[in-house]
Amino acid sequence: MYLVGAGPGDPGLMTRRSLELIADADAIYYDRLIPPGALDGARDDAELIYVGKQPGVPSVPQEEIGERLTRAARAGKSVVRLKGGDPFVFGRGGEEGEALHEAGVEFEVVPGVTAGVAATAYAGIPVTHRDDASAVAFVTGHEDPKKAETALDWAALAAFPGTLVFYMGVKRLGENAAALIAAGRDPEEPAAAVERGTWPGQRTVGATLATLAAAVEREAVKAPALIVIGDVAARREALAWLERRPLHGRTVVVTRARAQASGLAARLRGLGATVVELPAIRIESRIDTDEVRAAAATIGDYGLVCVTSPNGADLLFEALAEAGRDARALAGATVAAIGPGTARALAAHGIAADVVPQRFVAEALVEALADVEVEGKRVLVARAAEARNVLPDALKERGGEVDVVALYETVREAADAEAVEAIQAADYVTFTSSSTVKSLTEALGDRFPAAARIVSIGPVTGAAVREAGLEVAVEADRHDVEGLLAALLADAATH
Ligand code: SAH
Repeated sequence: MYLVGAGPGDPGLMTRRSLELIADADAIYYDRLIPPGALDGARDDAELIYVGKQPGVPSVPQEEIGERLTRAARAGKSVVRLKGGDPFVFGRGGEEGEALHEAGVEFEVVPGVTAGVAATAYAGIPVTHRDDASAVAFVTGHEDPKKAETALDWAALAAFPGTLVFYMGVKRLGENAAALIAAGRDPEEPAAAVERGTWPGQRTVGATLATLAAAVEREAVKAPALIVIGDVAARREALAWLERRPLHGRTVVVTRARAQASGLAARLRGLGATVVELPAIRIESRIDTDEVRAAAATIGDYGLVCVTSPNGADLLFEALAEAGRDARALAGATVAAIGPGTARALAAHGIAADVVPQRFVAEALVEALADVEVEGKRVLVARAAEARNVLPDALKERGGEVDVVALYETVREAADAEAVEAIQAADYVTFTSSSTVKSLTEALGDRFPAAARIVSIGPVTGAAVREAGLEVAVEADRHDVEGLLAALLADAATH
């Protein structure tokens, strides 16, 4: 049984131990404020049980959580109890651990990065500082300061020689600030509220102890948020590294149809954007056909083998393996790859392509094959089902005996409802190829984000956008990921 902290929201702040335990667990009992994708590494057959509290919704009572954990652990299961931040910092991990101990269940506690240091760090507020604060106090803001039996000693907090960090402090901020001032804390002391710290869309509102409550109300700051009171709150100006990033607060949609898209997503995240990746197409293998089986069994008879995509390369070798063959079957053939990516995929299977054009379109491959003898030779073109006939036609014209086999089909992926919802307020949609324009606009239909500005990698893609009835806001000058980013950044600076 493991009581595990999941950190404050940024998945990158989950500990290695937490990820190991999640990957191994039979059952995971999780709270509301765990990072997006925190459970992605769980086993397919793991039980994922939500036991979080939500304002206004009846939740699983604390005793029942304890009983359920105990029962699962006694059944011999590997159980993870996953909590936001650190399990022992306002996380009731102490109570759950005690209940387990009483029930005779052994457990391990895995600390997490607590919001009090993480949300502040992401907001550019050092909770201690040589000049400003030699101590920091984590305080619950949940208590009613007017209650006689309040657990908080307001006089002591007012006199505390350092930074005060209030958790759960938004609702009672006005009362708490008043109680501190009444007990002698300086009303002019710098203060800040950090909303959704380390999550996409993190926001910080700065003021003084006396004015923060009004500022928080005006800016409609919502939980989860931390309240920081102390001179360190004014250090934000120099240290707010995250909120200074050029795409902070912007949501950008990336279609995940090409290998380069994940590089684009990572670069956008680095610039501060919230990135939603949508799968636009999916590869469906077709190697289980007589046509492919025959080609694989007799591949040694071909003088020239043309491979037109990295997927094609992988599936060709899968088909060869099914036929009991390997790379040696291609020993006598000239092998042509449509571009460097396909050549790399072939290399991974032990084949150094003989012909690789730099531009990866069929026309370029036809050109690059100009010096290869084709007349009277058997030629295999291994490719996608829906490809153009430029290459086989050209090779036939030159006297080749051409067999075309379809190794796979690219099918349009239905966008999942959650992702579609997530992109409705997107600021940008990026397109890196005309095929993704087609598949994404078809998949989204009238749920294409209406206000999003469209960034196109180049003129061909741009034409496809206009053909789909949409407007191109920016077109890259350089037709690669860097060019696309530069165009997007320039646009974001003025919109
Ligand atoms: N165990 C958690 C705290 C749970 S109490 C931890 O160690 O972080 C819940 C409170 O934590 C929220 O009301 C809020 O004050 C604070 N909190 C949690 N996540 C936060 C975040 N990402 N940004 C700002 N405050 C957060």
